[in-house]
Amino acid sequence: MTDTYLNLVNSGVTKKLAKQLGLPQPAPLRRHQPGQPLLDGPALVLGSGADADTLAALLAGGPGLGWDLDVHRHAVPDTRYAAVVLVLTEVVHPTELSAPVLAAAGVLKGLARGGRVVTVSREAVADDAPAVAAARQGVDGLLRSLAKELRGGATGNGVVLHAGVPVDAPSSVGALRFFLSRRSAFVDGQLLVVDSSAGTLPDDWDRPLAGRVAVVTGAARGIGASIADTLARDGATVVAVDVPAAGEQLATVANRVRGTALQLDVTADDAGARILEHALQRHGRLDIVVHNAGITRDKLLANMTPDKWDSVLAVNIASQLRINEALLTSGDFTDAPRIVSLASTSGIAGNRGQTNYAASKGGVIGMVRATAPLLTAFGGTANAVAPGFIETDMTARIPALTRQVARRLNSLQQGGLPVDVAETVAFLASPAAGGVVGRVLRVCGQNMVGQ
Ligand code: NAD
Repeated sequence: MTDTYLNLVNSGVTKKLAKQLGLPQPAPLRRHQPGQPLLDGPALVLGSGADADTLAALLAGGPGLGWDLDVHRHAVPDTRYAAVVLVLTEVVHPTELSAPVLAAAGVLKGLARGGRVVTVSREAVADDAPAVAAARQGVDGLLRSLAKELRGGATGNGVVLHAGVPVDAPSSVGALRFFLSRRSAFVDGQLLVVDSSAGTLPDDWDRPLAGRVAVVTGAARGIGASIADTLARDGATVVAVDVPAAGEQLATVANRVRGTALQLDVTADDAGARILEHALQRHGRLDIVVHNAGITRDKLLANMTPDKWDSVLAVNIASQLRINEALLTSGDFTDAPRIVSLASTSGIAGNRGQTNYAASKGGVIGMVRATAPLLTAFGGTANAVAPGFIETDMTARIPALTRQVARRLNSLQQGGLPVDVAETVAFLASPAAGGVVGRVLRVCGQNMVGQ
């Protein structure tokens, strides 16, 4: 689905006209290409204290990381920064936010197109002294507001460290890299909690999934097909799963990614056993399961039919629970396994006409939170990705005018692409995300609805 409006406001006369009329001016987003440098310009690391020094040294080419960024610790006048990293882990009172935040303010006007602002802070918990909790929670409000002020495809996101997790823990570094990179082009205004020091950094940041075997459900088209492409690009061997009716498209995807196809309705009682059997027989192992298959059957609750309610719950959540149980009790899903489930912003904020869908997607969020602890003993994780408006066959069915409005209701003023969701899934499936446990990461351009 092409976003004609986005193309119009970025070309010639219509660009000028849109500006004069004060219409939304979404900027084309730049996406990740393997081999490209992490940033196109220098990074400014702000914040005083040991954590800021540690991160600055890491980004500048610390041991083993090899990112070799041009890192400044103080703003150099007239410099166009590609990224600003605000290290706020050591603030213990809201008044201490002032110096680093105002230092960042001074360079925002010159932030490069598609620039990145990333806060690194500590999670506010009830055990904190009130002033400490106020400072930490203040970062949340600051970041979400700042992200709404950025233009030109720039994004603002935050890494939030749980108590005791060092600033250079694998998932702290992994999340920071993800937010700095173009992989997170449509992730905006999000704060991702790093729960533990688990996880490992990859030898090759372009192939973090090398040697891993991944199953992707609903892989014949849309977001699922893009997830299959992206996991394969990142080095994984992919098993593409979809219903027999989508067999031809499924085979095309499986061939494209040099993986295998498994025709299967995920609601089948033995779906988990069949997935495991296929992965073990054809590829010798199973490491990653991406629960992407999903359907919508929209109706106001007052008009809901049992068929519409039950089919959505069966595909979108009951199948995931059943498959996970089969995998977790098999004894063959134990080498740092990863479960990544597709939720939706509808499951967080609610959406008129989608009680069934939102119940299923809210269910996914509850499920990953409760499933993650069952995997930690094996170094595993379960997390969810909640897409907002993504340009797919599913959203192409939305009436034209509603669709135009829905696209603009986020800070980036456009719909995301399937690859944006896929990049986030790939990050959560990677070894560097081993310390992110039972969380939800939204891919919604900071949609105005919900949190
Ligand atoms: P899509 O309809 O384009 O593709 C879904 C795929 O799942 C299809 O290939 C379909 O055949 C397959 N599928 C459906 N039921 C199945 C079953 N029982 N067994 C096996 N495969 C089955 O959808 P999409 O837009 O690519 O969405 C993918 C996921 O992302 C879904 O879980 C959806 O709820 C979620 N999501 C999408 C958006 C969006 O804006 N498109 C937003 C939020 C969440």
